[in-house]
Amino acid sequence: MSAPKNQEKRAEWIKKLQEANLGISRPMSEEARKKISVARKLRMKRIGYLNDVGTRKKISERLKGKHSSPETEFKPGEHCGEKNNNWKGGLQNDGQGYIRVVAPNHPFAVYGKIRQHRLVVEKNIGRILKKTEVVHHINAIRDDNRIENLYLFESDYKHKKFHAKPFNLISNIKKC
Ligand SMILES: [Zn+2]
Repeated sequence: MSAPKNQEKRAEWIKKLQEANLGISRPMSEEARKKISVARKLRMKRIGYLNDVGTRKKISERLKGKHSSPETEFKPGEHCGEKNNNWKGGLQNDGQGYIRVVAPNHPFAVYGKIRQHRLVVEKNIGRILKKTEVVHHINAIRDDNRIENLYLFESDYKHKKFHAKPFNLISNIKKC
């Protein structure tokens, strides 16, 4: 509601508004009083229920994944990998353009994942790559992990040296 322009009406409007705010303009009806009382009691009951030790324990356990029914209870490992609804075949872009795959048993896994291009080369050569070895993407596309697009450098020094060559079209790309 916008304020009336007329001075007198405006004063009246303000007075009404103030009265309403103070709760003195309209005496509360018996019905409204009852409604408020019931709502207040319900709220108190709810707070009382929440403060009940047994309920608080139940809520805290539920937050930790424990449920009263074994069917709905969280079991470690059950929501991992393929069983998870968000499963995308184990592929995940790491934000830098590389694809990470789930490999929890890999010695160099970080949070159970490893960069796919390294895994592809490892499978191809039949051994785990050393941390010092660098896998280069020939076409500079970081998520093109076809074996024919991958080249293994024995060190980051050799990889960087390769990129630094003036005839190399992708020399401006530090890591690929
Ligand atoms: Zn490279």
